[in-house]
Amino acid sequence: MGKLYLAPTPIGNLKDVSDRLRETLKSVAIIACEDTRTTGKLLGLLGIRARLISYHEYNESTRAPRLVEYLMRGEDVAVVSDAGAPGISDPSYRVTKAAISAGAQIVALPGPCAIIPALTASGLPTDRFFFEGFLPRTTVTRKKRFAELATNSHTLVFYESPHRIEKAVSDALETLGDRDACIAREISKIHEEFLRGTLSELKSTLEKRKIKGEIVLLITGAPKQTKEKKNKYKK
Ligand code: SAM
Repeated sequence: MGKLYLAPTPIGNLKDVSDRLRETLKSVAIIACEDTRTTGKLLGLLGIRARLISYHEYNESTRAPRLVEYLMRGEDVAVVSDAGAPGISDPSYRVTKAAISAGAQIVALPGPCAIIPALTASGLPTDRFFFEGFLPRTTVTRKKRFAELATNSHTLVFYESPHRIEKAVSDALETLGDRDACIAREISKIHEEFLRGTLSELKSTLEKRKIKGEIVLLITGAPKQTKEKKNKYKK
């Protein structure tokens, strides 16, 4: 039985390629990737020639069994996404589940993922966090989701597009109140930037200045209830 490697790739800086990633991508029989052109470019820069097969959110369910067939023939397969960790707001869940059912070993390489550098540099509490992935696209559904998360005391972490960040911050302010927050932008790239402040401060920054690029929005969690408050309605 072959091994299934889950292989994170750089989120902006090619120097984040580890020796282990390079060796893995060189050694496997097949690399399943979201976009063969994007991964082809990365492999070109690394001087690696490999057999690529497309594996994205629209063909995941049909491609996963095919990838498992390769594993069952004894061939090693790597899954990569366009950037960052496969499986984190990117495909890999279906093939991982199918490979586990087939008895294959799963090897998840540690590596780049936008969540962790965004969280650790945010200045918000890092001891507990809640990763939501992408927020809903409309104001009504976004506010509803914020309302559902309003009592969550973990630092809230969202992926968001530059086109919707201003609205998302404004909806968060309306729904969650004026909490500390951070916008982590273009991590590990030339224009890397961390905008820190309260939601109302970030809102006024975004009103004055449009921001571009890839964004993680982080918002501090709900204040933990004190015992006294918790017991307020207890006899
Ligand atoms: N699998 C990826 C990971 O491990 O982070 C995430 C893929 S998801 C399709 C893409 C989103 O991740 C972007 O829209 C952005 O919210 C976030 N992201 C990816 N790279 C980033 C970067 N360099 N700086 C900030 N956010 C980034």
